[in-house]
Amino acid sequence: MTQVKADFIVIGAGVAGITLAAELSSYGHVVVLEREDQPAYHATGRSAAILIESYGSGPAQILTAASRGVFAALDLLKPRGVLHLALKDSNGRDAPDVAGHLLTPLTASQAHASAPLVPLDSIKAGWLERSAADIDVHGLLTRYLDRLRRGGGRLITGAAVTDARRTGGLWRLTAGGEAYIAPVVVNAAGAWARQIGRLHEARDIAVRPLRRTAALIDTPNGLESSLWPLVVTLDEDLYFKPESGGLMVCPADETPSPPCDASADELDLAIAMERFERLTRTRTPRLRSRWAGLRTFAFDRAPVIGFDRQATGFFWLAGQGGFGVQTAPAAALLATAMITASDGGVAQALSIGLGAETVSATRADLEREIEATPLAAAVEG
Ligand SMILES: Cc1cc2nc3c(=O)[nH]c(=O)nc-3n(C[C@H](O)[C@H](O)[C@H](O)COP(=O)(O)OP(=O)(O)OC[C@H]3O[C@@H](n4cnc5c(N)ncnc54)[C@H](O)[C@@H]3O)c2cc1C
Repeated sequence: MTQVKADFIVIGAGVAGITLAAELSSYGHVVVLEREDQPAYHATGRSAAILIESYGSGPAQILTAASRGVFAALDLLKPRGVLHLALKDSNGRDAPDVAGHLLTPLTASQAHASAPLVPLDSIKAGWLERSAADIDVHGLLTRYLDRLRRGGGRLITGAAVTDARRTGGLWRLTAGGEAYIAPVVVNAAGAWARQIGRLHEARDIAVRPLRRTAALIDTPNGLESSLWPLVVTLDEDLYFKPESGGLMVCPADETPSPPCDASADELDLAIAMERFERLTRTRTPRLRSRWAGLRTFAFDRAPVIGFDRQATGFFWLAGQGGFGVQTAPAAALLATAMITASDGGVAQALSIGLGAETVSATRADLEREIEATPLAAAVEG
């Protein structure tokens, strides 16, 4: 077995692992270990690829706002917008739970004009969140992988981490028949983050994968949809958005799942199509493809970023839920500041508005959850 020595080992080549590895490559030799044969095979390759500033928990919103400038500087955003729709036959909320400065209120006719698939007579009102934008995820990963390589870092695919031991101040990991040695290991394993934590005898942080289903359909009635916004009902039980010349439709499902190669469930798919047909009063045209991915959350839906309290040199970058792409650049900067642990790093972390306790792997809320969650009740891999 050969031994590869590094300053930092990152487990997982999704958007979290790749962006962080690229940032860390300015500080030392980085090795990224990825079980699959290609990066971004799991959640990262299955997302809706949109940046919505109002979306997610408070820390997620802060990281999203901080990431926006990076995306813009790399020319990775395209205007999309989100149309929040209040429907006449809904008993739910009658205004979106979104900061007012992000929204432009629309009349029913204006809302119908921007999403003509939804009949005018079923719309009560709409709100346009203009700042939402499509993210070029492929471009993002390519840029950061280039940076990683230029910084002397390596991405090793087909390398599932199966063993981890700490001796003499160093982690020794086994992956794909090789040994990898470094003082710092980053857990960016997405849905597998809890398992990776256990492998390192870290605190048992109960990040939970929840499955989300999506389908790509032809746009009904042959309409040209490429400039439509993402349309979401205030009940948040359905959204659709232009994608690849058709529409991506999602029933906003959150089904607990073990970490796995998720696939679309027939029932969730049927629910998506039924809701779509009811909302648009159309017959679902050809289903081009279907997929599902795992969104992984801590109980308070804030990301888990920080050194483990129990396992020395073990760093969590997990719990990115449904906002892992839009927060990745700033989360990587924050994590780098925490890992490299210079005063400048701490200042950088604070300067983007997050107190250490908000995102850290030691935050008190996570301790409480562990006490309150019997292991048997938690989703096991
Ligand atoms: C349908 C859907 C829509 C979404 N829409 C959006 C959106 O519009 N905007 C947004 O910002 N986010 C969105 N998300 C969420 C986003 O995709 C995730 O938050 C993000 O991709 C998580 O990235 P990650 O790197 O943490 O995880 P992943 O991409 O899952 O990467 C983790 C990697 O770790 C690897 N790994 C695990 N265990 C091991 C091991 N033992 N050894 C080696 N490697 C290992 C896995 O193979 C995997 O490649 C969406 C998600 C879904 C499913």
